[in-house]
Amino acid sequence: MPEILIRNASHVLTMDDARRELGGADLRLKDGQIVEIGAGLRSDGEVVEAAGCVVTPGLVNTHHHLYQTLTRAVPGGQDALLFGWLQTLYPIWSRFGPEEMFTSAQVGMAELMLSGCTLTSDHLYLYPNGATLDDTIHAAHEIGMRFHPTRGAMSIGESDGGLPPDSLVEREEDILKDAARVVDAFHDAGEGSMCRVGIAPCSPFSVSRELMRDAAFLAREQGVMLHTHLAENDEDIAYSLEKFGCRPGQYAEDLGWTGDDVWHAHCVKLDGQEIDLFARTKTGVAHCPCSNCRLGSGIAPVRAMRDAGVPVGLGVDGSASNDAGNLVLEARQAMLLQRVARGADAMSAREALEIATRGGAEVLGRSDCGQIAVGKRADIAIWDARGIESAGSWDPAALLLAGPVQVRHLFIEGRQTVRDGRVTTIDLPRVIERQNAMAKVLAG
Ligand SMILES: [Zn+2]
Repeated sequence: MPEILIRNASHVLTMDDARRELGGADLRLKDGQIVEIGAGLRSDGEVVEAAGCVVTPGLVNTHHHLYQTLTRAVPGGQDALLFGWLQTLYPIWSRFGPEEMFTSAQVGMAELMLSGCTLTSDHLYLYPNGATLDDTIHAAHEIGMRFHPTRGAMSIGESDGGLPPDSLVEREEDILKDAARVVDAFHDAGEGSMCRVGIAPCSPFSVSRELMRDAAFLAREQGVMLHTHLAENDEDIAYSLEKFGCRPGQYAEDLGWTGDDVWHAHCVKLDGQEIDLFARTKTGVAHCPCSNCRLGSGIAPVRAMRDAGVPVGLGVDGSASNDAGNLVLEARQAMLLQRVARGADAMSAREALEIATRGGAEVLGRSDCGQIAVGKRADIAIWDARGIESAGSWDPAALLLAGPVQVRHLFIEGRQTVRDGRVTTIDLPRVIERQNAMAKVLAG
């Protein structure tokens, strides 16, 4: 990878251990890493001028269902609660195949990259008509995004009292076999890895207790992370109490689903004891404020989680329940939502941005990402603070209060993937055209 010099940035929010903020700083990127930070640096490589710009670490998205970019704003699901919403969408998703998975993943990743995201996880839990996790991994490889796909699953269909139609569930032995296959084929545990695979049954209400337990065994045997949905809303808690006789935190703990190699999406309804459990075990949380608002699930106790020491990252969640996939707007929403619950001093713009960068990297086990420091990966977002959104701002580094919602430039592993607001790695207009044609067919 050629050397890059990012020159004369007005503000650099490093999110390093000292949370330094630098003015008039240069960054030198080489071989996928940040190799030098300072003023007046020299380089033989390409120079990217950053005067008038705010530079941050690339944002980290800890929860998504990329395939759902093909089912945004579906009329029957626009105003439904979680379970009703799922039942509207399952029949549509059952018509997806490999092409739909590939294209929708690229659209979702491009949308994330334009909003400053350099590393995304994905939770793919249905595999109709020959679709595989491989489809999304190929999509990420082509667009050049750092990717943590997870092999999701559902095994309890309608005929067994579950929510999804039988056509979307798999046999549990097949799920575990395929999870082991994709880990063997694609997981790279190394520093600077562009692909780490996780194992992720969809939720406690769509797989058996045995599969939850066996998935945890398999993940630990293979040294990969575990992910699922947990304690999303009141219906979810009621279901857990009725079916399992305990709250979700207890269920997770009993089945091996706590630890620093586990992260749970939502956790809107965690109580004080569950927050203590997560803090003690360093179990991570993917906070998805827009989705929680959209589905009326509630306000996650993020302030209490952070104060207790729970690792918290942000997730845009699937585009059927957001319906946007803009991670910097998600960070703004996280800040606003804590203020609704706890007052204006509950979360600053800088703390929300920290959760969106360093916080997410911590949740995904990536100590090599999420901050601007020498030796860390060269995942960098450059925000132009000379536009209308920042005009009149006394503090452009308070990006989430008054700042652009799209990046000017983006670097992933030292490679420029967005230049002057355009994705450089794929023909995005053509991909969007393909996506819209697919959505039309799905809508019948
Ligand atoms: Zn989700």
